[in-house]
Amino acid sequence: MTPQAALLDDLATLLGKGGLLTEADDMERYRVDWPGHHGAEPLAVARPSTTRQVANVVGYCHRHDIPLVPQGGHSGLVGGALPDADHPELVVSLERMAAIRHVDPINFTMSVDGGCILQSVKDAAEAADCDFPLSLGAQGSCQIGGNVSTNAGGLNVLRYGMMRQLVLGLEVVLPDGRIYNGMKALHKNNTGYDLKQLFIGAEGTLGIVTGAVLKLFPRPQVSRTALLACPNVDAVLELYALARRSCCDLLTAFELVPRTCLELAMEAAPDLRDPLDAPAPVYVLMEVAASGPLDLDAMIETLFERGFEAGALTDGVLAASETQARNLWHIREAMLEGQRNRGEHLRTDVSIPISSLSAFHQRASEEIQSLCPQATIIAYGHIGDGNLHFNILPPPGLGADERSTLLHELEERLFEIVDDFDGSISAEHGIGRFKQSAFMEMLSEPEYDIMRGLKHLLDPRGLMSPGRILPRPAE
Ligand SMILES: Cc1cc2nc3c(=O)[nH]c(=O)nc-3n(C[C@H](O)[C@H](O)[C@H](O)COP(=O)(O)OP(=O)(O)OC[C@H]3O[C@@H](n4cnc5c(N)ncnc54)[C@H](O)[C@@H]3O)c2cc1C
Repeated sequence: MTPQAALLDDLATLLGKGGLLTEADDMERYRVDWPGHHGAEPLAVARPSTTRQVANVVGYCHRHDIPLVPQGGHSGLVGGALPDADHPELVVSLERMAAIRHVDPINFTMSVDGGCILQSVKDAAEAADCDFPLSLGAQGSCQIGGNVSTNAGGLNVLRYGMMRQLVLGLEVVLPDGRIYNGMKALHKNNTGYDLKQLFIGAEGTLGIVTGAVLKLFPRPQVSRTALLACPNVDAVLELYALARRSCCDLLTAFELVPRTCLELAMEAAPDLRDPLDAPAPVYVLMEVAASGPLDLDAMIETLFERGFEAGALTDGVLAASETQARNLWHIREAMLEGQRNRGEHLRTDVSIPISSLSAFHQRASEEIQSLCPQATIIAYGHIGDGNLHFNILPPPGLGADERSTLLHELEERLFEIVDDFDGSISAEHGIGRFKQSAFMEMLSEPEYDIMRGLKHLLDPRGLMSPGRILPRPAE
């Protein structure tokens, strides 16, 4: 038996029937992510069904120097979960660990497996008359372990915070195979360093998240969704400040949707209709929700009045039913599909202090257009969190190399502007592999030393998701 065959044999024994995939055809779907990027063929795909099995596999890899990469629902956008080409890796997929362990509607908590699909978590919360507020386009496929590891944000950060604010406890298999059990359902716990925070947003580089205790909220009983037309981004920000003040802290989402995005959405979903009579340069898709019987219509009407008076608003529609609200939110989902249909493009995820967003938007748009007048800028996003997806569609007809060089050049310029505004090159998607060189350029020496030190402390052999966030030490 070759050493590799012996190794696969050992792993198959550790994982039991159906726990290890080794055939190329079976492994194909673990090499592709949502945007369509392809990773290399992995050494094998491990599909553990218990935390103990994850620990056994990781411990085995630690003893035999086998690099590995955890995988959730493949919806990450920075290539972190894709198997590496230069150093064959074992993919550890959590797809068979998808149980809701316990829902506690009095403590407002839920304990789940790391492989639980976000939508199942939301459904289980709703069944207990609670709400788990993390909401994003990939919620039908992304897993809690992936959400934790990318510190996912989404549509409701404005009111509920990012994943970091929604996790009370974690269970993590460490790179040497030991299990860190921090599954306490405590709302307050000030005992020493808050270890769980280390693993949130670590993109699988410090361990595999096998369980999480999540914070729940009362289920919203009433909500209102509106699409508002604005003359420009400045007006959107003025409206945002008005909405924060007029809506009694009940604002759950405030999304910027430029006209180009609405058009992309209608292109991808031909049944979608333009909700307003006349086109506007930019729109806001907003939602207000409350867990008690409040008069949200009165609140929104006041906002409309103030918005019109200030000239920040030119038109708007308030959804009159749940179906109408769903149709408005459908615009937000379909515009992502519309972008994906346009092929390879620059996808960014920057954040800027909210008060500087308009100046950033204007400068970035002007500079990108002057570098490439035929490019199409699509800048949309969670504007209530200062988070813009400043994406760029290249002109059609470019060859693959030419397109890739152009997108790289545009990204560099954009990130320099982000830096000038003291912003961040990743508000929520993370660094993975695709953003690593830009990240390294912006990292100060103390920041690098702390991060490298933490990585070395937990993963001295560098086997856990090597080359993600930080480069491999020898590189
Ligand atoms: C249509 C769409 C909309 C999106 N919208 C948003 C949005 O609004 N806000 C936002 O923040 N993000 C958004 N995302 C990206 C977001 O990061 C992911 O959807 C999600 O958080 C990743 O979860 P996943 O299970 O798919 O992880 P994967 O893609 O499988 O993995 C992502 C990273 O996490 C690591 N990982 C996965 N599981 C584990 C685990 N159990 N333990 C340790 N590491 C693990 C992987 O190694 C990889 O580095 C969107 C993506 C899509 C496709």
